[in-house]
Amino acid sequence: MIRDYIFGGNWKLQYPTVETSVKAAKDIADQLSTIDVEAFIAPSPNALYEVGRMIKESNLKLAGQNMHFMQKGAFTGEVSIDGLLEAGCEYVLLGHSERRRIFGEIDEMINKKVHTALDNDMKVVLCIGETASERANGDMAKVNMEQLSGSLKDVSEVQLNNIVIAYEPVWAINNEYLNPGVKIKAATIEEANESHAVVREWFVKNYGQSVSEKIRIQYGGSMKPTNAKELLSQRDIDGGLIGGASLKAETFIPILNSIK
Ligand code: PEP
Repeated sequence: MIRDYIFGGNWKLQYPTVETSVKAAKDIADQLSTIDVEAFIAPSPNALYEVGRMIKESNLKLAGQNMHFMQKGAFTGEVSIDGLLEAGCEYVLLGHSERRRIFGEIDEMINKKVHTALDNDMKVVLCIGETASERANGDMAKVNMEQLSGSLKDVSEVQLNNIVIAYEPVWAINNEYLNPGVKIKAATIEEANESHAVVREWFVKNYGQSVSEKIRIQYGGSMKPTNAKELLSQRDIDGGLIGGASLKAETFIPILNSIK
């Protein structure tokens, strides 16, 4: 493996209180202490600071779920990069499909956030992915390449060292709003490999072969202890961004252990 695995737990708004978030974070941090792998959790903003305090001395890292591209100003309801840094975040998720498809974020906006993050020493997990209908129309490659081009506009080769890509097909994400009435399941190995190859190839075309070999691409979308091993044994899958199964140590830790 030329790239180190990286795992993230995206907690969304699933733990709406500080107390429940801190408890789950502690369980995960305790169990992670015996595993040598890079992993972060992204709690909801209301719990970020307290979770950060709880896991400070552990090897579990902290991530923001989103942030505004302006450092401060009249932006009601937004989260600042300084707030994320103050809480102890090393990473921020940007362009998650829930931000893109529920809250209307466009690539231009995501690109501004990417630059604000990188300019302020925050690492970025850039999320991309197509919907079921985009895939059915044969647009999987086009959509993902457009999101990469738009979100990474004017990002230098050196800055890519601080970027991780999360390929997350929207149709595989356990989200009833984005996938109404659909039985949600993870991508098959073939589907995941096809998409990860598209992403890797985009980096070859835009930054060259050696840069593309270094960029880490997580798979996200219904990753669980039962399917993680097979997904993670694929050449172009360098970890996972995990929603539901990251909420508890009982399901998150076995996923991390499946790389052994
Ligand atoms: C996600 O939203 O990033 C995600 C991968 O969710 P889940 O694992 O619940 O499908």
